[in-house]
Amino acid sequence: MKCYSCRGKLEASTVSDFNDLGTSIIFVRGIPCHKCTQCGESVFDLKVETRVEEIMDTLKNSLAGEIAVVQYSPFEINVVKYSKMVAA
Ligand SMILES: [Zn+2]
Repeated sequence: MKCYSCRGKLEASTVSDFNDLGTSIIFVRGIPCHKCTQCGESVFDLKVETRVEEIMDTLKNSLAGEIAVVQYSPFEINVVKYSKMVAA
């Protein structure tokens, strides 16, 4: 497997992603990916990408004015922390 951008070598890594919903933000940590050793581009498996969307979809209905930090898991919704949104 090679990087789509520069054809560099990919190695297993993890990244964080977040979804800003306006009234709340969902952070997902520890998402497995393949990271390019040359340009830093991250490539995700389709099932991982689908799972991240599923986690965010599940959580966004239960959040209001809060920040949720979630540890990626293929099997469960693993919220590690809820924070109140700080008023500007
Ligand atoms: Zn690359």
